[in-house]
Amino acid sequence: MNHLQKLDLQDKRVVLRVDFNVPRDSAGHITDDTRIQLALPTIAYIRERASHLTLMSHLGRPQKKRLDSGEIDREQFSLEGVAEHLAQLLDAPVTFQSYADEPSMSKLTLLENTRFEPGEEKGDEAFAKMLARHGEVYVNDAFGTAHRRHASTAVIAEEYAPENRGIGLLMAEELEQAQRLLDADQHPITAVIGGAKVSDKIGVIVSLLDLCDNLLIGGAMAYTFIKAQGGQVGTSLVEDDKLQMALDVIAKAKQSGTSLHLPVDSVIAREFSNDAEHKTTFSDDIPDGWMGLDIGSKASDAYSHIVADSKVVFWNGPMGVFEMPSYAQGTLAVAKAMAQVKEHGGFSMVGGGDSVAAINASGLADEVSFISSGGGAMLEFLEGKKLPGIAALQD
Ligand code: AMP
Repeated sequence: MNHLQKLDLQDKRVVLRVDFNVPRDSAGHITDDTRIQLALPTIAYIRERASHLTLMSHLGRPQKKRLDSGEIDREQFSLEGVAEHLAQLLDAPVTFQSYADEPSMSKLTLLENTRFEPGEEKGDEAFAKMLARHGEVYVNDAFGTAHRRHASTAVIAEEYAPENRGIGLLMAEELEQAQRLLDADQHPITAVIGGAKVSDKIGVIVSLLDLCDNLLIGGAMAYTFIKAQGGQVGTSLVEDDKLQMALDVIAKAKQSGTSLHLPVDSVIAREFSNDAEHKTTFSDDIPDGWMGLDIGSKASDAYSHIVADSKVVFWNGPMGVFEMPSYAQGTLAVAKAMAQVKEHGGFSMVGGGDSVAAINASGLADEVSFISSGGGAMLEFLEGKKLPGIAALQD
């Protein structure tokens, strides 16, 4: 697989898949341009060499049915505002046009949201061919969507000879850092996995058991494990069809010698609301009518110590409903502990929108070793799955 530096870009037309799927407010303004910033080095490298550079990306999930019925506004998902933002960042003109238009004559162009076309997510060959008209060299720098076999992320690569396709600088960095985690030989190695559903992350949890000394579980998924072991979890979010799966994970952790930790206490509330009455109890003794919405202070302290004392840490997923300040304390405590790992000479990596947001909100982004731009993609890579966006670029 070619790295960018291996490709002959001189005076060529290059088409670059980036991940410009940025968060926006209700008025459509970009609230965080990290993903655009992360693509800038690759964009600069190509612009210095190529005659034309055409960028393509998706933005959100505009389903065709909902667009056609008028249920969602097309403008809300247009990349036009991103083109304007990019032009400002680069202090250079950025032409904005549809992927269906003739290839642009401008030096720098951004195509409209590829997901406006149903063929994108279906991995449609005809749509991939349409996109491939925009460049004679294809570069993929969109790590965040590398786990999808979409037209612009994977299928398009088939239109290019191996010497005319490759990965961008961000993608290369992501793969290198993920490999660094998998190859880690300094102990203890700890994974902190949180979020809503155990079913979303079971694959990576099982894989991480082979790698890690400690696995810390937080977020709503903890209650599926606690209920499976006979605990009372009140109205906490539980996946009742995954109770056996949770018991299997606990058994596997014992076999592999990994300490699997569940939060000993929880902040519980009567309602899913920031202003609801709330208090702290043991996580396996949550009364009827109450739900666990954050790990409690005892669990926060325990998790923080384990993380801070680790040599290598990977974190994905919040410890509670951190969007509501009343239930953010556990997630923020993990963010702070992550910052100590690098300080002590260890390696800390965060992946996934919510955990990255928590690190940023705590002002600790510079204190972790690596912030991955891919949530799902990073989890699948660590799970040992082949990412279609990467596989398509193999020689
Ligand atoms: P995920 O996308 O799986 O990483 O899940 C992230 C979401 O899980 C966030 O929006 C959190 O608010 C939510 N979450 C975390 N802990 C809980 C909890 N105890 N109860 C309900 N939702 C939670």
